[in-house]
Amino acid sequence: MHFLSVFIPLSHLLITSWAQSEHSITSTGKLRAYDQYNIIRFHSNNITHVLKDVIQPMTNDYDIWTRNTEFIDIKLLKTIKIPNSNEYSHEIIINDINSLIEETYDSSLGNNDQENIFDVSLKMNNNNNDFFYFKQYHPLQSIYLWLDLMKSTFPNLVTIENIGTTFENEPLKVVHISSNNSSMNPKNKTILITGGIHAREWISISTTLFTIYQLLTKYGASKRETKYIDSLNFLIIPIFNPDGYKYTWTNDRLWRKNRQETYMSNCQGIDLDHSFGYKWDNNFEFPCSEEYSGQYPMEALEVKHWDTFINDITTRGVHIYGFLDLHSYSQDIIYPYAYSCDELPRDYENLLELSYGLSKAIRNKSGKNYKVVAACKDRGSDLNPKLGSGTALDYMYHNKAYWAFQLKLRDTGNHGFLLPPKYILPVAKETYAAIKYFCDFILNPEI
Ligand SMILES: [Zn+2]
Repeated sequence: MHFLSVFIPLSHLLITSWAQSEHSITSTGKLRAYDQYNIIRFHSNNITHVLKDVIQPMTNDYDIWTRNTEFIDIKLLKTIKIPNSNEYSHEIIINDINSLIEETYDSSLGNNDQENIFDVSLKMNNNNNDFFYFKQYHPLQSIYLWLDLMKSTFPNLVTIENIGTTFENEPLKVVHISSNNSSMNPKNKTILITGGIHAREWISISTTLFTIYQLLTKYGASKRETKYIDSLNFLIIPIFNPDGYKYTWTNDRLWRKNRQETYMSNCQGIDLDHSFGYKWDNNFEFPCSEEYSGQYPMEALEVKHWDTFINDITTRGVHIYGFLDLHSYSQDIIYPYAYSCDELPRDYENLLELSYGLSKAIRNKSGKNYKVVAACKDRGSDLNPKLGSGTALDYMYHNKAYWAFQLKLRDTGNHGFLLPPKYILPVAKETYAAIKYFCDFILNPEI
């Protein structure tokens, strides 16, 4: 039995004041409350019509939660009267957003136990089935300390690099995992995994952390993980948007963008997933928009740092074979391109086969169904080109990584972005099954 624990200094206990004293976070004004809103699902095969002809003429106070070829989920004021139409049907899928927000913190609030939330523990035993750290979500500082703990526990396998600083001076951390970690072995194929590009998609972050944990703790004990770490380089960014993620813990659980200044002082943040430098456009020109793309490509600092880092390692001979960008929600395996359905992705049949393989790996693990969807359809860019502009998926696929996917994790709308902590492990485990499938595919010498 091996037990390690790090207790976070008091200066980091920024959240315990409300965590200890209040049961209702949103009602006290500590976090933004959403009493006045519902999440509405519009069933339609023309989401652009719903958005442009129905929603936008009525209000600019809307937030798209997810969209695909069959429906679009939108946060709308309860006072909005939605007209009946033959073009769509609609239903309320979430009418008490505040309760769901509070549930995502629930186990942290639990017994008013501040150690519970900030105790970064790593317990390992022979069965390796404790998973203590994955019983709840954790704030930024806690996660960064946990990464340090991983580094100190597995010094021969882990390197953590700060690849830049955010607008609010937080480090952007990349975790390298390789048995040849001092300098990545250029002969090894490299796999990149990113989480948390959108701040409110917490499940994507906990899933990257679980992936790190599984790879490291199983190295030497399991043939598969040992082979992965000996033969591949992993580069994992668990929190691509540290400022935004921090903000979801302190101000607004539903924040999506980063926290960078814009030309409008009252509207901060660029949507990182519209900021990448491939097929970028400035059609999302309004800084208050949840999808604001900035004034020029890669204006978002996190994206700029990532671009510099990727260019640097590829110049040094690192070959990126695979890229998985984790998001939520809707249970989709999404393949390029996002910006247009007119450009056929290279090696299309294999790409599709790999997509279905990822989906099947998840289904075999948990029984959950993940749909395989072309990104252009998922985004709706076949109907409105701006919807698919400047994505991480297209940028990585076109310029940097041979095989690239976006995975939208659970659920299908019951909780949306507000997945309760009890789902952290089930989602992490099924996604890790897909990641292993991806590693096996990449390790195929013919690929
Ligand atoms: Zn997302």
